[in-house]
Amino acid sequence: MPQRRLFVTTALPYANGPFHIGHIMEYIQADIWVRFQRMRGHEVHFVGADDAHGAPIMLAAEKAGQAPEKFVAEIARSRKQYFEGFHIAFDNWHSTHSAENTELSQDIYRRLKKAGLVYTKPVEQFYDPVKGMFLADRYIKGECPNCGAKDQYGDACENCSAAYAATDLNNPYSALSGAAPVLKTSEHHFFRLSDPKCKAFLKGWLEQPGRLQSQVVNKAKEWLDGEGDKALGDWDISRDPPYFGIRVPDIEEEKYLYVWLDAPIGYLASFKNYCARTGRDFEKFLQDPGTEQIHFIGKDIIYFHTLFWPAMLNYAGKPYKVPNHVYVHGFITVSGDKMSKSRGTGISPLRYLELGMNPEWLRYYIAAKLNSNVEDIDFNPEDFVARVNSDLVGKYINIASRAASFISKYFDGKLHDFGEIAAPGWAAAVAIDDQISAAYEGREFGKVVRDVMAVADRVNQRFDQAKPWELAKDPPRKDDLHRACSDAIHAFFTLTVYLAPMLPATAARIARELFGLDRTLSFGDRKMRASRIRPFKHLLTRVDEKQLDLLFDIQSVPQASAPQRHAEKQQHATKEHAVSDAISIDDFNKLDLRVAKITRAEQVEGADKLLKLTLDLGGSMRTVFAGIKSAYDPASLEGKLAVVVANLAPRTMKFGVSQGMVLAASGAEPGIFLISPDTGAAPGMRVK
Ligand SMILES: [Zn+2]
Repeated sequence: MPQRRLFVTTALPYANGPFHIGHIMEYIQADIWVRFQRMRGHEVHFVGADDAHGAPIMLAAEKAGQAPEKFVAEIARSRKQYFEGFHIAFDNWHSTHSAENTELSQDIYRRLKKAGLVYTKPVEQFYDPVKGMFLADRYIKGECPNCGAKDQYGDACENCSAAYAATDLNNPYSALSGAAPVLKTSEHHFFRLSDPKCKAFLKGWLEQPGRLQSQVVNKAKEWLDGEGDKALGDWDISRDPPYFGIRVPDIEEEKYLYVWLDAPIGYLASFKNYCARTGRDFEKFLQDPGTEQIHFIGKDIIYFHTLFWPAMLNYAGKPYKVPNHVYVHGFITVSGDKMSKSRGTGISPLRYLELGMNPEWLRYYIAAKLNSNVEDIDFNPEDFVARVNSDLVGKYINIASRAASFISKYFDGKLHDFGEIAAPGWAAAVAIDDQISAAYEGREFGKVVRDVMAVADRVNQRFDQAKPWELAKDPPRKDDLHRACSDAIHAFFTLTVYLAPMLPATAARIARELFGLDRTLSFGDRKMRASRIRPFKHLLTRVDEKQLDLLFDIQSVPQASAPQRHAEKQQHATKEHAVSDAISIDDFNKLDLRVAKITRAEQVEGADKLLKLTLDLGGSMRTVFAGIKSAYDPASLEGKLAVVVANLAPRTMKFGVSQGMVLAASGAEPGIFLISPDTGAAPGMRVK
């Protein structure tokens, strides 16, 4: 099998908020595919980046009273906890607001211009005279020209669903300032997508067999072949200031590249950054005809990735290359409800982690639901519990938990080597290797799960039929017992190799703790029969339905609203425990409790539970290590008020000296809740 060289990306998330479950689904899908390719011995480089430019971010930063650079940098800092939390192993995470992206975007712009595919023309557009900026349709409101409904957005009516141009609205006003917009003309830069040579290239690119899913080809060709007012138009690629973006190069006037031009170039910028960091030759790698460039995206951005992006890359020329594949997935719904960021429904990925739920349950569940079609998948709580508890733990993990104890107890951990004798369970597991491999390659992860569980069923049945608990009481049949249990363990190992891309941490633990293998599993290990096992330890727990109740309890609360989320959690605080023995008021007065402002919160390298907090006690500063890492994103803590035990003797810890203790509540249920004074309290105030 020749080694492949793969450059794989996921869609760039917009840097204006936390990740939602839809992002996590895409990262899990791509991560599973990437891990499988690595297990097959291929060279894979897996990168992502934040999409940091555009008017919405500029306005969001303004609202937060921050410079956009600082705003997106804070968002970027919050990403790591998701990747670590859900075992998503990007090689690099970067930003479109970077030197690499400026360089590459301006380079591609210049090349397209040189190829005669960029021109300028005046565009008349609504302008907000108060804000001093041109208004995209989403910032214009007015009365629907069709039904007269008030306060409708500039592109479509929410009341009657009519679509129209912003200039058709009656009594339009700026959603930003409320001012009546005026029409103003500005020179815009356009990419000549309608050029016959562009269309001919795209037709050939789209129709290349095996490049795209057929549903995607059909959708893209509808746009490409549109006629009349549906005809493929040229693409407006510039924006006027104020704008947070990359300057259009080589012109006097201040103009910016439209965010959708620089966003996909962010894939290359992240890769370039990674190449520099790891001593690779960016241009050489891209130009190598053997390199495959693969993008995982959602169905909402097919248009950009199958028309603009390949056309841009093709006409920019070498070292740029057109994508080999764009793999499109559907959306994730939760109990049948379409996930919507604005409504804030869905599952909060951070809450999932805060509750101590195993990330590999979610990886497994999402994998079990995914196929290669552009279909929506649904997260259904009962189904989640059933698949994890009955299938993953009840069928697969169960094989090891049943067979291993006999091996340890009666055979001192040694496994039967079978030699020329048939090992039927193991053979059944090995026999499906080609179909497992093909299913992974084709992103048919649901099929992988079905095939693995079918073998697990057979292995469990065979084990039951052998009645090892009876064989164990019958010394002359000791070899039968040894074979029945060893075969089950060998099969379990093969199935572990198959599930490793979905369950990387669990598989690594099984390899290490049960089989004593201190290395990464490869697909080549699938036929291996270990000679012995170590004593069985608990490998994977079942989902506790109470955790799901807690996970869904807040589904109507937006993720960004941490205080509200925590307030909701409090309602579910566990039963009160018996109160401690009485103390005198003098005992209590020994405590010097102070209001402190968290001026900085940082991760502590090597610490599982601690965050390092820098506290302002109204003039004097303290460093405190607090065991709240599982519950708080450091960025969300900065600026918050807390209560600190100010006269606690300093304690030397592994990571430094802790000068006090912040107060937090916790109970039998997962979750830690920082104590915060009411509005108005100031740093240094005494708490009594
Ligand atoms: Zn209407």
